[in-house]
Order: sequence, then structure tokens, then C-alpha cells
Amino acid sequence: MFTMQNYIPPKRYLDNKTILVTGAGDGIGKQAALHYGKHGATVILLGKTVAKLESVYDEIVNNGGNEPGIVPLDLKGATAQHYRDMANTISDQFGCLDGLLHNASVLGHLGPFAQISEKDWQDVLQVNVTSQFLMTQALLPILKKAPYASVIFTTSSVGLQGRAYWGPYSISKFATQGMMQVLADEFDNSSIRFNCINPGGTKTAMRAKAFPAENADHLKTPAEIMPLYLYLMDNEASTETGQTFDAQPK
Ligand code: NAP
Repeated sequence: MFTMQNYIPPKRYLDNKTILVTGAGDGIGKQAALHYGKHGATVILLGKTVAKLESVYDEIVNNGGNEPGIVPLDLKGATAQHYRDMANTISDQFGCLDGLLHNASVLGHLGPFAQISEKDWQDVLQVNVTSQFLMTQALLPILKKAPYASVIFTTSSVGLQGRAYWGPYSISKFATQGMMQVLADEFDNSSIRFNCINPGGTKTAMRAKAFPAENADHLKTPAEIMPLYLYLMDNEASTETGQTFDAQPK
């Protein structure tokens, strides 16, 4: 039976598409970048650690993909001007942007609400929410220029139901869902779709930080949850907007 979570796209269905992936150097973002590159997209790799982005760049090119773009950027310090400059560069090189995967996030410190420091609150909200607001706002003009565009945000189970000790991270994921829904409503009946993916427990560095004692062998790998990421970038198959989808439904 067809589900989005077992979707197999047509080969190279992303030919002539340009897709920006944040946090493309590691974990889920790395796999998304590799998969989009394998299907013909020109991927713009945004992340903090240049060496990781270069390694993903090499892997995409070695797999026969288009030469990716690299945007080394720390979302914690980036300003609106950084995002406007990036949008202008993408516009000059590619004319438009067909896809945007907001994937980069930080976990911050887990602990009681009473002990959340103002700095941790601001850092987590800056990376997980404010940077997505500024980046999306700057990129809207070139997303509008694409015949069809897909913007995917990344939420979490703790962004659907608040959980003790997950403070700023949990709250930031509620805000992410809110941002996606506001945009989807504003852009209803337009050429841009906005959705959220909840990856579910996935074997990455962030998961290991959140659950240091767990045996990670039972977790899905980032590569295993890619069908939903591929589906939502498929303008032929996907018409959904304003929705949140589980990559690993119960
Ligand atoms: P990850 O392995 O920690 O990777 C996060 C990526 O984001 C890394 O490439 C990292 O770059 C980048 N990043 C972090 N801070 C950044 C900053 N300030 N500026 C630019 N890039 C930054 O995390 P993941 O598990 O793949 O998570 C991906 C997304 O899925 C996140 O939104 C997360 O909240 C969500 N999620 C994950 C799980 C899970 O079980 N793994 C579950 C639910 C939701 P560097 O490596 O250079 O630091």
C-alpha cells in the first residue's frame, strides 16, 4: 500500500531544481542533501562546520550529482542581511529556489524549567526559530519565482505535546509548527507549500545527546526515514500544505 513514508520517487525527479538544506553536514540534513543530490537537484548545503559540508559536497559529486553550493553559516549569529545576501546569490546563480528544508536545530540543555538560563533560552530560540523566520522571509521572493516550491520545517514529538525538562527545545518546536501554519495559511492557493516533518527517534548525534544511555541500535537511521523527505519535495506527487507528517508513524 502506498504511503508517504515508503514513497519511491521517479529517478532524477529533481532535475533542474535548486534545494537549500540547513544543517546539511550531519545527521538527517546530510542524508536529505545526499538524497536530493542523487535525484538530480542542485543542493545548497548550509551549516556551521565547513569540513562536514565539504565532505557532503564530495559525496554528492562522487555519486554523479550536480556541483552543490556551500554556505558556511552559524545560525546563532547570522543577521537578516546574511540571509538577504544569500538570497541574492541564489537568485543570481539559479534564478529561483524550488525547495527549502529547515532542518538545523540545537537541543540546548535539558532540565527543570526553573533552571533554564536566559542564555540557553536565547540561543535555542535564535537557532531553532528566529533564524528560520529571517531566512524564510529573505527567501520568499525567490521561492515565489519557482513554478512550484516546497518548504519543509522540522518539528519533534515534544513540539506536539510539551514534555517536562525539554524546556526551550520543546517550546521552539511548537513555534516552528506555528510558523509553518501561519505561512501555509498566508500562501494558501499559491505555488508554495509549507509542511512540517516530525522525524521521530533517529540515530544521530542530537538523539545521542538527548538519550545518552539508550541502545541506539533499535533506532532508524537518517537514510531510512528519507522517503517522506523525498515525497514532500515532489511537486508532481505532493499537494499537501499546512500539515505535519510523522516520518515514523506509530
Ligand atoms: P544533528 O545530528 O545534531 O544535526 C544537526 C545539524 O544542524 C548539524 O549539521 C549541525 O551542524 C547543524 N547546526 C546546529 N546548529 C547550527 C547552527 N548554529 N548553525 C548552522 N547549523 C547548525 O541533529 P539531527 O538529529 O540530524 O536533527 C535534525 C532535525 O531533526 C532537527 O531539527 C531536530 O530537532 C529534528 N529531530 C531529530 C530527532 C532525532 O531523533 N534525531 C527527533 C525529532 C526531531 P554542525 O554539525 O556543524 O554543528
